Amino acid sequence: MSENLYNLLRERFPPDLARTFLEAETGAAYSFHDLDQQTSRYASFFTRAGVSKGDRVLVQVEKSPQALMLCLACIRAGLIYVPLNPAYRRNELRYLLADAEPAAVICRPAALADMQALTRELEGEIPSPRVATLDERGEGTLTDLCDDTPPIFDKTPYGATPCAGSDVAVLLYTSGTTGRPKGAILTHRNLAANIVALHDTWRWRPTDVLLHALPLYHYHGLFIACLTALMGGTKIIFLPKFDAAAVMARLAQATVFMGVPTYYTRLLEHPQFGRDACRTMRLFISGSAPLRAQTFREFEERTGFPILERYGMTEAGVITSNPVDGPRLAGTVGTPLPGVSVRVVDEAGNVLPTGEVGEVEIKGENVFAGYWRKPDETAESFTADGFFKTGDLGRWEPNGYLAIVGRSKDLVITGGLNVYPKEIELAIDQIEGVAESAVIGVPHPDFGEAVVAVVARKPGANLTEESLLAQLQEALANYKVPKRVFFVDELPRNAMGKVPKNLLRSQLEYAAAFSPARPARP
Ligand code: AMP
Repeated sequence: MSENLYNLLRERFPPDLARTFLEAETGAAYSFHDLDQQTSRYASFFTRAGVSKGDRVLVQVEKSPQALMLCLACIRAGLIYVPLNPAYRRNELRYLLADAEPAAVICRPAALADMQALTRELEGEIPSPRVATLDERGEGTLTDLCDDTPPIFDKTPYGATPCAGSDVAVLLYTSGTTGRPKGAILTHRNLAANIVALHDTWRWRPTDVLLHALPLYHYHGLFIACLTALMGGTKIIFLPKFDAAAVMARLAQATVFMGVPTYYTRLLEHPQFGRDACRTMRLFISGSAPLRAQTFREFEERTGFPILERYGMTEAGVITSNPVDGPRLAGTVGTPLPGVSVRVVDEAGNVLPTGEVGEVEIKGENVFAGYWRKPDETAESFTADGFFKTGDLGRWEPNGYLAIVGRSKDLVITGGLNVYPKEIELAIDQIEGVAESAVIGVPHPDFGEAVVAVVARKPGANLTEESLLAQLQEALANYKVPKRVFFVDELPRNAMGKVPKNLLRSQLEYAAAFSPARPARP
């Protein structure tokens, strides 16, 4: 029997296909019938263009209803969907194109010339992909080409290419400690296991309406949010991006909202935000970064809703969640989802009792199938008995909930987006006049953490913060560019020759760089 994820979703469509599945901010509405037709059109277009099962489709576009349908079309056709953050710059893209070797690339019209130049540059290294465009209004050459394609994607059942559960559905790039992004391989079964569990855990109701303000290139916005709603056959209100006023304007038409912690602090900053704006709401869910206990408390005081915090990652989707029908505890991420095993272990791999801090390890059908073309890194990230080593530090609370207390890897999470210091350090070290650098995350009232660079200059170099940042802006996506640069004579090193990042993070000058008592920039 085919385990194509599209079949599972299609079975959950409401009997009346004319019902709205998605409403855009413009007011444009798309029915479940439109969804079925449009995904069929895209799928037949790819098939006719010679893109076949297992081929990668690399997509770097702005958020739009069509971008979501494009993702579902790839899954339906058995193609491997590879979404990329539109903020990625040329050298980041070059690496990803070479690594993913896509058969087709869909990009923004404004990026077409650059994308074509890049694929020409890679000729000989990878087969040339077919390139088409899609903009935030759903227009572009992909749409033009598909308008001429009849929606007759006729594989069965439901017109989806037969797939095994172990067939790859998606490659999601996640930055690595080595500084190079790794493609997490997610199969049809990985995604299905997670969204079925979420649909049950969050008690999705036929009357639910999801207000969606998350980006579409990350597991959170794409799968946790959209696919859980689709599993319920319910409506999504789609905002192009998070904006506190726009969210407030639409909340009264929704029942569920999902966000990263920064969204919640921004809503709280809005003076009119309160009980009235939330009158139709059932659930506010937070994930992708730690939610501060203070935000949880302020939100509950202001709205009456205790935010439901859950814990997850690209490699596994959601792992644990606070309950819908039970106490939600600030500073904890709840209990494992059905079908997920979670353990906390010491450095020798011994399972630790309640209250002791160790690394979180997980196992379950939701856990990814490995890193794309990286067998060594894949092998290193799993234990002999098949648990994935998350790199997060956690502790079981006496009530059986998990608390995430830190990370064994020195990842920075800024506004819900992950930044791996190594990647930024490599970019800084290439700049003329830099001797060495260390990148850390420090507390930031809005972003949770901010990226900060500590840089030692070469003797005689007259590099300034402005010129260094200007050069980094050329090389890195905006969210990865440090918010401050501090110059030092030399970096501190421990006995092992390593820069002690925890010591840097605790140094007051850096730690308080964004504290409200102190201006962010001189
Ligand atoms: P990503 O792969 O981008 O989803 O990032 C995954 C990482 O985000 C995890 O390994 C954790 O370090 C962090 N994370 C996600 N959710 C939470 C949470 N609720 N509390 C603390 N850290 C979290």
